[in-house]
Amino acid sequence: MKISEWIESNRSMFVELSNEIWGYAELGYKEVQSSKTLEDALEENGFKIERGLAEIPTAFVASYGNSDGPVIGILGEYDALPGLSQDCVPYRKPLDNGMPGHGCGHNLLGVAGLAACMAVKQAIDSGEVKGMIKYFGCPAEEGGAGKAFMANAGVFDGVDICLTWHPDTFNGTLYANFLAIYCATFKFHGKTAHAAADPFNGRSALDAVELMNVGVNFLREHMIPDARVHYVVTKGGVAPNVVPDEAESYYFVRAPRTDQLDSLFERIKNVAKGAALMTGTEVDIKVITGMSNMLPNETINDVLQAKLHEVGAPKFTEDEHAFARELSKSIPADSLATSAYVYGLDSKAVAALKDTVLFEDILPPFKTEIVLPGSTDVGDVSWVAPTGQIITTCWALGSPGHSWQIVAQGKMGIGQRGMLYAGKVMAVSALEFMQNKKLREQAMQEFKQKRAAANYVSPIPAGTKPPLNI
Ligand SMILES: [Zn+2]
Repeated sequence: MKISEWIESNRSMFVELSNEIWGYAELGYKEVQSSKTLEDALEENGFKIERGLAEIPTAFVASYGNSDGPVIGILGEYDALPGLSQDCVPYRKPLDNGMPGHGCGHNLLGVAGLAACMAVKQAIDSGEVKGMIKYFGCPAEEGGAGKAFMANAGVFDGVDICLTWHPDTFNGTLYANFLAIYCATFKFHGKTAHAAADPFNGRSALDAVELMNVGVNFLREHMIPDARVHYVVTKGGVAPNVVPDEAESYYFVRAPRTDQLDSLFERIKNVAKGAALMTGTEVDIKVITGMSNMLPNETINDVLQAKLHEVGAPKFTEDEHAFARELSKSIPADSLATSAYVYGLDSKAVAALKDTVLFEDILPPFKTEIVLPGSTDVGDVSWVAPTGQIITTCWALGSPGHSWQIVAQGKMGIGQRGMLYAGKVMAVSALEFMQNKKLREQAMQEFKQKRAAANYVSPIPAGTKPPLNI
């Protein structure tokens, strides 16, 4: 039996696992039940489990095979997002108002990787291939940078090829860069006073927060266009008649390359110091997490693209189309244009999608490396091991990222078909790399050349602990 057929014949097991994790909907670093569900399933299947890696209780690795041969890694995620609880219906209906939901499809993401690993195990058992398959259980993709801490702890060392995927509205390969990011807090310390009686004795930390924001907003004109800076004020005082002695903002700073990010972050730190000087306060700057940009690998990308075609994109049922059409009524009209912009689709390609609700084709490979306007901790893995990534259709076209619409589609045929397709493509690609030494070497050589040219340094300062209570 081909290993993609093995996945199909075990469809119900994978669907049940993804539904179970959909139901847990646990936030980053709190994925206790979700990680245990995946660990138990892999352990029962004969995988060796190492738990609690990189000082993260919900990070794990499941391995099978012999490390004398090639080592292929597949990444899995399983964290949910706050406030997105939603029933599996095509209109807004929270299951438990205000509670988390799988608004990025990570219940599917984690299980497709598991399916691929279990399928490769079949090929190892039958003697078709030699080597080791490793499932990396990666917590807290959403803002926690789990993989970045795991990469720094050496969890991915020794992997020859790493594969991953993400649920999407398209099928395709991601020969793309993402933005490197710093997530940092700026905590200002001033001096409190009665805001009416003796304000001249006070030094307002809130003034410093506001002046820093003003300074950063003036800085925008002189940043590279692909950079992104956004903030929230997390602490701003308690009463208008008390001069705030403590105030804090939380910043995300992003740029396509880590060297660009470092220089922009230095300028933002200087703005913060300037705000402190202006207001007679002091500032503590703390990097909470950071993520690297992506080092895409053309060799792996080409294999993944061929395997997407070899396995063939799934067709959706009439019921699933009807669900997607109903759900699409809630999707803003310009959402498709946004994803077309993100993936660099030309106007002809967008016009061809006019009557499409569920994308059943395969996107042609991006001609040049594009920069996607988001950040992912897969980037940190891509600097440690040659890494390739696909996307598959799990959501109706235009479904907004991190939305209830995505939660709704994650526990039904639409998401599940995309999940199994991704699992099959990663499985047959892993098999190809295990069998084809030349391809492995080519991918490794490309990785080494690109890495050497970039002078890579992890954006997480040495000694930073994973923010388990983020
Ligand atoms: Zn995601």
